[in-house]
Amino acid sequence: MSQLLPTGCKAIDMLLGGGLHAGMISDVYGEGGSGKTQLCFTICGRNAKLFKRVKGIAIVFVDTSGTFRPERITEIAYDNGHEILDKILVIRTLSYMDQIRSIEKIVEIRPKLLIVDGIASLFTVNHHGIARHLTLMNHLHKLSLVAINLGCPVIITNMIRSRLSDSGAPTLIRSLEDSTRELMGTSLSIYTHMKLMLSIVQPNKQLFKAVIKQPRCDKHAYYTITKSGISDVSL
Ligand code: ATP
Ligand code: MG
Repeated sequence: MSQLLPTGCKAIDMLLGGGLHAGMISDVYGEGGSGKTQLCFTICGRNAKLFKRVKGIAIVFVDTSGTFRPERITEIAYDNGHEILDKILVIRTLSYMDQIRSIEKIVEIRPKLLIVDGIASLFTVNHHGIARHLTLMNHLHKLSLVAINLGCPVIITNMIRSRLSDSGAPTLIRSLEDSTRELMGTSLSIYTHMKLMLSIVQPNKQLFKAVIKQPRCDKHAYYTITKSGISDVSL
């Protein structure tokens, strides 16, 4: 059986079949404010604590949008010590080329956990149509080799696509399902083992929903966002 790492939220661990699987890519996508980055922080904080005794860097966090907050990680981990942050290497990428180049650093570091918050957004800046898909797929192929060769779980996050289709052409949204398609989702699906879609249920009550989209099943769970990060909720 593959090694499992916790997300920090039991309900989400259960959706993922026990937690984050070594050697696999788990894709978390959803609308803005649904908690993708907060989930990354929760995974990071909880596991940095577990890896406290591991020598050197244990987690690589690729930040494609400049939203990494170290103080939030220590808050989630209930730990003000520098040991927690010393376990994490943040790679801030400003372009899709930076993101592609980050693979070299990751292979050198050999982390036990890899998080890429915002996998596709930088690829939409310089590329259009099929070139955009091919460049992203090539990057995902390399990430999947990292997952397999290092035997580490890889978590990526992604946005919901806008009214422009993946090819850049206007598209007609016919249903809610249609409007919640992932940005370049079909290209990512080839390399992702699990897909988790996050959505906001009640913004005022901080109630959110996670649904497993891949493998296809009807499983879902609710969560909230607190001082401790993504947390279980009792309904
Ligand atoms: P985007 O697509 O814009 O990157 P996202 O899915 O990454 O959005 P997050 O930034 O993870 O969204 O989540 C934002 C939500 O987390 C907001 O609803 C905010 O209220 C909540 N949140 C952030 N920090 C805290 C905190 N310390 N305590 C409680 N809730 C928080
Ligand atoms: Mg975010």
